[in-house]
Amino acid sequence: MMNIILLGPPGCGKGTQGEILAERTGIVRVSTGDLLRDAAGKGTPLGKKAKSYMDQGLLVPDEVIVGLLREVLASARAAKGVIMDGFPRTVAQAEAVDTLLTERQRRVDQVLFFDVPDEELLRRITGRAAAEGRSDDNPESFRQRLVAYRQQTQPLVDFYRRRGILVEIEAVGSIPEIAARVQARVGM
Ligand code: AMP
Repeated sequence: MMNIILLGPPGCGKGTQGEILAERTGIVRVSTGDLLRDAAGKGTPLGKKAKSYMDQGLLVPDEVIVGLLREVLASARAAKGVIMDGFPRTVAQAEAVDTLLTERQRRVDQVLFFDVPDEELLRRITGRAAAEGRSDDNPESFRQRLVAYRQQTQPLVDFYRRRGILVEIEAVGSIPEIAARVQARVGM
């Protein structure tokens, strides 16, 4: 049973590394970004509400996300733990994750922080826009996502560092190199 959070700026590679980690450990990876894009694609009420925020590079409001987290963390597939990709992204969400895990006699075990310089992020995001055609991977919304990250998400680095569960990963290099660093630090 391991509950692992992947933390880092947009374009830091945590989605890719999360998939590799999930495959290797058998722990399910959950991405709120994927869940929201799926809901937006289906045109559900949640998806409609989320889409305008996502397209602008803004965070979807906490009350929407906390409802989603409750469903995710209560689901059967999360019973063996979960790799949290893209959440929590605010202190309020981090507190909600703590509450929801504590209710199940669980806790956050490790937080992997993927550290990447800004210029490298911008270079990567431009490549991904071409490859995947994501509507929020253009330079303007990328810049806004980086602002949202700095203002709302970056405080979580200290939040978890103070708790002694932050693991810093130098996330520059090839995908296999970074995956090897993750494996060495996660210890599984
Ligand atoms: P991601 O795929 O993780 O980069 O997320 C894409 C977009 O979905 C973000 O820019 C936000 O608009 C929204 N989003 C995903 N996860 C969250 C979250 N935990 N809190 C708020 N907004 C989120």
